[in-house]
Amino acid sequence: MNKLIYLDPGHGGKDSGAVGYGRKEADDVLKMAKKVKSLLSAYNCKVGMTRTNDTYASPSGKATIANKAGADFFVSFHRNSADSSAKGYETLVYANSGTKKEFANKINAKMKAIGFTNRGTKVRTGLAVLRQTKMPAVLLELGFISNKKDNEIFVSKFDKIAEAITSVIVDVNNLKKVTTTSNASIKAGSTVKIKSGAKYGGASSGKSVSSAYIGKKYTVTKVQTNKGVKEALIKQLNSWVPTKYLSIV
Ligand SMILES: [Zn+2]
Repeated sequence: MNKLIYLDPGHGGKDSGAVGYGRKEADDVLKMAKKVKSLLSAYNCKVGMTRTNDTYASPSGKATIANKAGADFFVSFHRNSADSSAKGYETLVYANSGTKKEFANKINAKMKAIGFTNRGTKVRTGLAVLRQTKMPAVLLELGFISNKKDNEIFVSKFDKIAEAITSVIVDVNNLKKVTTTSNASIKAGSTVKIKSGAKYGGASSGKSVSSAYIGKKYTVTKVQTNKGVKEALIKQLNSWVPTKYLSIV
């Protein structure tokens, strides 16, 4: 069963979170969580979000949503705020142990490499999204919105930050990349299966492949492009079949 990763962009709606330099924490973290969600689509997991637009839900309500959904891992996205000299990245956890500790150590190192000051891991027992969640939960403070330099890193390294978060989620949850074998990679020697509804005889023939041949394994002798249609010569059938009807085994 694929794991369920829950992403929680902090704040939202009536609660803008911290503000600074014309930025709103609620907007910054929603954008980042959405980017991470899109990157996670390449892996064998399901992804849930506590919000997908500018709406408010209480931290306690968000923990309940993730618990009810049966989430396996929970990541809350935030940005910090203090006086303008405070800067850096930190990970908050309910207890610095197990998967949470592993995640925190790895992400802290990656954020340092990206350019943030490493403020390390902080134990926070009073935060609902960390205390009430039943699965391992971490809270990311993605630099200070009250610090000009941190905002510059957040903007200029946005994709790198999203990739770092994604890679550590993938790492600690043992997720695997979903292999999408596109028919663009079909070549001489490929082992393929013929999909139902397939036609044979080349681009223009349109004769249906007998159902007896569907789903069995065949070998591609060679490929060609005929009138703009990529076809594969199937050894055992001695017929040309457009590659859109084939899947690599
Ligand atoms: Zn926050």
